[in-house]
Amino acid sequence: MAAITRLLKRTPSFYSFARGFSSTNSHAPSRENRNIQWVFLGCPGVGKGTYASRLCNLLGVPHIATGDLVRHELASNGPLSSQLSEIVNQGKLVSDEIIMNLLSKRLADGEAKGESGFILDGFPRTINQAEILEGVADIDLVVNLKLQEEALLAKCLGRRTCSQCGGNFNVASINIKGENGCPGMSMAPLLPPQHCMSKLITRSDDTEPVVKERLRIYNELSQPVEGFYRSRGKLLEFELPGGIPESWPKLLQALNLDDYEEKQSAAA
Ligand code: AMP
Repeated sequence: MAAITRLLKRTPSFYSFARGFSSTNSHAPSRENRNIQWVFLGCPGVGKGTYASRLCNLLGVPHIATGDLVRHELASNGPLSSQLSEIVNQGKLVSDEIIMNLLSKRLADGEAKGESGFILDGFPRTINQAEILEGVADIDLVVNLKLQEEALLAKCLGRRTCSQCGGNFNVASINIKGENGCPGMSMAPLLPPQHCMSKLITRSDDTEPVVKERLRIYNELSQPVEGFYRSRGKLLEFELPGGIPESWPKLLQALNLDDYEEKQSAAA
């Protein structure tokens, strides 16, 4: 109870946030009887969205990316839009209170539609957010994706979205030479089909100075979240060996899901 009171003091939106997790808190069914509750951590550009959404399709749980919630709010031209646009375009973090409000609303909407379980992407991003989440949900696993910094910058700058179908692509062709004992790495571009070519857009925060600021903020505020989960025995470190063709099967192996994917495709 004392822990809950401490959390309540941290964020006025705690009540609505906790309600969003109502099927996942301490009164909820045991882990065996519910869907997975995972978190994806990693620097901007590492591929959290790509791998989290693939896993969500495989496991039948919603992919909840707080960055998408922020962009959706921004595009709605609502009361928060101009404040959010300034923060996001400077590469800074949105306040915990705004993020909690957006996330609790997304969770409540999902619950009303019968969603259960989730993979969170881009949340938690601060120790405070991690503590709040720990107070309301029993996270099973935290996957920490890793990639060399040189590749992160190139991947953010090469990111493109089709404004019509919403497909995500990457025009960067990455070739990093192995040096001083560090392995080299190459990643082929993920090019859009011809019909998307003329409709590609770039995120306003994927410019070089803003990506560098987002990486700096990650190292300062979000990296400690890795230690938070490591000390709780929940962190799975996964170094991406290359692009999707090399990394996806290895990630499934690391998650003990390689058989699962085969069974799903056989059943389809
Ligand atoms: P992303 O798509 O995850 O890179 O997020 C885009 C932007 O949304 C970030 O640079 C932040 O400004 C904001 N944002 C997303 N998630 C969070 C969060 N958990 N806490 C604070 N700000 C966030």
